[in-house]
Amino acid sequence: MSASAQALAGWHAVVTGGGRGIGAAIATALAAAGARLTLMGRTLGPLQEKAAALPAAQAMACDVTDEPAVAAAFAQASEAFGPVAILINNAGAAASAPLTRTPLALLREMLDVNLVSAFLCSRAVLPDMLAAGFGRIVNVASVAGLKGAPYITAYAAAKHGVIGLTRALAMETAGKGITVNAVCPGYTDTDLVRRAIDNIVEKTGRSAAEAEATLVGSNPHGRLIRPDEVASAVLWLCAPESEAITGQAIAIAGGEV
Ligand code: NAD
Repeated sequence: MSASAQALAGWHAVVTGGGRGIGAAIATALAAAGARLTLMGRTLGPLQEKAAALPAAQAMACDVTDEPAVAAAFAQASEAFGPVAILINNAGAAASAPLTRTPLALLREMLDVNLVSAFLCSRAVLPDMLAAGFGRIVNVASVAGLKGAPYITAYAAAKHGVIGLTRALAMETAGKGITVNAVCPGYTDTDLVRRAIDNIVEKTGRSAAEAEATLVGSNPHGRLIRPDEVASAVLWLCAPESEAITGQAIAIAGGEV
């Protein structure tokens, strides 16, 4: 699964949450294929650091749950690098708790950061993609968008929503040169999983190694997914020759689903 060298030359790609973890790996892969990158996220420092390491990239502070901020950031990004041809809705967060200990505010937070963000950013880029007759949107969902698991009702509801958004928008844009897909990673070796391990340690008294073993146990490969493995699937979906693939939710999870 790879796009040929410079397959994305000159295209403007936006990666939300592109400063670290899966988003940073995706930014690296798209940049290696020639795309010009806008890295959008909440904290400018890590975004600037990552952008400086890429051949053509700009960093932009933006809370992707904030409607006016998203509109302003995409307008500014396009002014500098041209209309957005590729959007990677990667920003997200995961929280876990039993349902009876999940406050409504947590459900709303999970919906906002994982789902509303993808809705707002997709809506911001779609007019230019329709005008160009070309576009690639990839939503970073999760295996939690494809199946349930204990103690993640809020996160799973949000990620199932991301997959619903993906499928519906794919139908709306079918035949217009635009594809909309989701990738669904299993537990991936990033800060997000490190925080999940800390949470298990705190709540259960298990050691970090035991907590990691519990998470890894859900993957038939018996290991965490690497961020670059998610990035390579995203790169493939963004390639011009992937036009026939739309509305898909592709598990990157060692056979977990
Ligand atoms: P991470 O915590 O390392 O990175 C998340 C990124 O999103 C950060 O850059 C953060 O600043 C950004 N972000 C969060 N809220 C934001 C907001 N309101 N506005 C702008 N940016 C915001 O986590 P990661 O593991 O790299 O996660 C990336 C995506 O992958 C998320 O959508 C996550 O749900 C998904 N995912 C991760 C795993 C995993 O095991 N790590 C598994 C499946 C899916």
